[in-house]
Amino acid sequence: MKKRPLGQNFLKDPSIAQEIVRLAQISPQDPILEIGPGKGILTQFLLESANPLTALEIDKKLCGELKQKFATKSNFRLIEADAAKFDYGSIGSGLKVVSNLPYYAATHIVKRLIHYRDRIADMTVMMQKEVVDRFVAHPGQKEYGSLTVFIQFHCQVERLMEIDKTSFSPPPKIDSSLVKLTPLSGPRVLVKNQKTFFKVVNAAFLHKRKMLKNNLKDWQNQFQRENDHMHLAGIDLSRRGETLSIADFATLSNFIHTHHD
Ligand code: SAM
Repeated sequence: MKKRPLGQNFLKDPSIAQEIVRLAQISPQDPILEIGPGKGILTQFLLESANPLTALEIDKKLCGELKQKFATKSNFRLIEADAAKFDYGSIGSGLKVVSNLPYYAATHIVKRLIHYRDRIADMTVMMQKEVVDRFVAHPGQKEYGSLTVFIQFHCQVERLMEIDKTSFSPPPKIDSSLVKLTPLSGPRVLVKNQKTFFKVVNAAFLHKRKMLKNNLKDWQNQFQRENDHMHLAGIDLSRRGETLSIADFATLSNFIHTHHD
């Protein structure tokens, strides 16, 4: 079988591309960033209002084709680059990101964009359905995990549309979902120290079936016994990490940060 290491599953149907662009709610004069324009099916509609549209494409051959195809468009800027390593600080601010992301690097690219969230208005991105399930999950659901907490800590998340695998050429093995991530003006919950917060979150989900008292052993000198149960910051440690809300994680990590020796 032919290898497709660059996640090159191209959208076939222009009406789906048009719907994605509509859902991205672009106003004239919005600066747009498209990751992985491919053959330009989304790009052609985005260029109708972008000011400018910056496109990052890693594939040299596709870059050549795109340059030709959109040679007459003065608002088109193409950068041949790896979106997983790109310095997004170099291309302005207020960016609206629109992309059919390459699956193999989609989560990594989204995390990197969140790192540059001060420059991003919102991101309307298509990704593997299972990853979007994790982005939108609630406590208690099996998809809820450290990725959910990271995304929802920084962004408002809205699931917009499902796209069947048959809409792509070649069809991938998995279905896709379109999701909008809007960076919040500040973190969703107040935490004293973000490093401690994410350390606690990652530890809590390390062994998903284990109780918090086992996953949070690094902080056992702060555990308190109440009525035969171990607690930390008022949270019962016989619970599993997947039952805690983001606010619960903030409570835990703020206590740990304040009481660490
Ligand atoms: N936007 C097109 C569409 O909807 O048909 C193509 C989408 S395809 C899923 C992903 C695109 O991202 C491909 O054009 C691929 O070459 C490009 N790509 C893959 N890895 C990349 C990376 N690390 N940085 C930038 N572009 C990448």
